[in-house]
Amino acid sequence: MAATVIDGKAFAAKVRERVKAHVTRLVEEHGVMPGLAVVLVGENPASEVYVRSKGKATREAGMKSVEHKLDAATSEADLLALIGELNRDETIHGILVQLPVPDHIDADKVLAAIDPAKDVDGFHISNVGLLGTGQKAMVPCTPLGCLMMLREELGSLSGMEAVVIGRSNIVGKPMAQLLLKDSCTVTIAHSRTRDLPGVVRRADIVVAAVGRPNMVTSEWIKPGATVIDVGINRIEKPEGGTRLVGDVDYEDVAKVAGAITPVPGGVGPMTIACLLANTVTACCRKLGLAEPEGLTA
Ligand code: NDP
Repeated sequence: MAATVIDGKAFAAKVRERVKAHVTRLVEEHGVMPGLAVVLVGENPASEVYVRSKGKATREAGMKSVEHKLDAATSEADLLALIGELNRDETIHGILVQLPVPDHIDADKVLAAIDPAKDVDGFHISNVGLLGTGQKAMVPCTPLGCLMMLREELGSLSGMEAVVIGRSNIVGKPMAQLLLKDSCTVTIAHSRTRDLPGVVRRADIVVAAVGRPNMVTSEWIKPGATVIDVGINRIEKPEGGTRLVGDVDYEDVAKVAGAITPVPGGVGPMTIACLLANTVTACCRKLGLAEPEGLTA
């Protein structure tokens, strides 16, 4: 039987509606509008596209959106000073510095300067530690989006075998922590894993976050498994031009899996939706209000 397609675009639209409803309540009942500040240093075309779409999505959700576009020659000290201002700004509940930053700026130092309570990317070491110890944290957007889709598709994840392929700090590791928090039995695989197909074949849940086009094939997949493809890879088309594919050979794996996310239209749209969700969560925590249901880990 063909796999269920997990429609990330449709689910992201639902999450954004939930965010918007929550924002309306915050404005009407508490007189507070959640605010997100995005900081971009330099002129990276891909980053500019991301920043524009983040700003648009933030405004569409009824939130305040502030964009700081800084010259590529901006000094680290000036960037840190701006982050200090945003940390103190009562109208800003989320701060995101678009990575990568130019080479003369130490990205770790910049991330460490963001108030952890406003760290909507979940990259601050305090949030990494909180997540790692099972406490309330700001959670990185991409793994949060994957978790939301898995819960929507499968309900309780308790007791399931999960294999995460990739151990990066922004996807693989936080994804594994979230699955562990939901009581999965978690394996993190990486480039040194022996018998990767054999390891993946054990999984009820597979999350691929590698950056290798079409690496995961149907022989790796246990029949009925749920497959989440985080990878975004641009490949040449035989007839010329390029197209986006994931880390999973979609057509092949869809014959065996129970459910699968497509690329594009799977994890990608959920990442921005989760950025909005995190901004609302940060705002609610700041005000001491109940956290928005269905929008947190
Ligand atoms: P990184 O390059 O930081 O990490 C890749 C991981 O894959 C590493 O842990 C690496 O292992 C592992 N790996 C590489 N080759 C193999 C292999 N042959 N077998 C097993 N494991 C392997 O990437 P990211 O985590 O940042 O991103 C992963 C993918 O997800 C990329 O395609 C990226 O574009 C995409 N992405 C998508 C997002 C979205 O919104 N949809 C957001 C973020 C990322 P090792 O550590 O041993 O080197």
